[in-house]
Amino acid sequence: MIGIPLGLLYTNLGEWLIHKHILHIRARRKGSFFRFHWIEHHRNARIHHMHDPDYHRSVFGWHAQGKEALCLVGLALAHLPLLPVAPFFTGTVLYGIWNYYTKHKKAHLDPEWAKEHLPWHYDHHMGPDQDCNWCVTHPFFDYIMGTRKKWREEQLVGKAKASHEGVK
Ligand SMILES: [Zn+2]
Ligand SMILES: [Zn+2]
Repeated sequence: MIGIPLGLLYTNLGEWLIHKHILHIRARRKGSFFRFHWIEHHRNARIHHMHDPDYHRSVFGWHAQGKEALCLVGLALAHLPLLPVAPFFTGTVLYGIWNYYTKHKKAHLDPEWAKEHLPWHYDHHMGPDQDCNWCVTHPFFDYIMGTRKKWREEQLVGKAKASHEGVK
């Protein structure tokens, strides 16, 4: 049963590490496979005030949504062999991957829901600094690492001001 809290900690740390180091730092390198997160997803969220209309399209395609889903399926498959050895841990990790996908998608289809239920991810996209607030489903490791930045309402990019400025 210890596998459940361990799995929750592991997936939350994974969200922090992957989002920061792969989806932001590595994604800014020219030719990176992960550029979709920064160039497509952040740009859309910034222009449409957190809404990313690309989540309405089919997940099957060589675009931000297809690549995101592909990465998550890859992560799930990579952990699958652990299932017989550590069923609670692996089950929690698989749940964490699904939880990430559904919550992240919902946040960008329903910005008002995101503002209320995932304010840290709203802050990630709409705050003046998009290189903080790395966790998506729960801000635990952002608090541990000191990267949870709560912006005041007036600091968030307003509807009128929303643009892709800051997205290089
Ligand atoms: Zn991001
Ligand atoms: Zn997002």
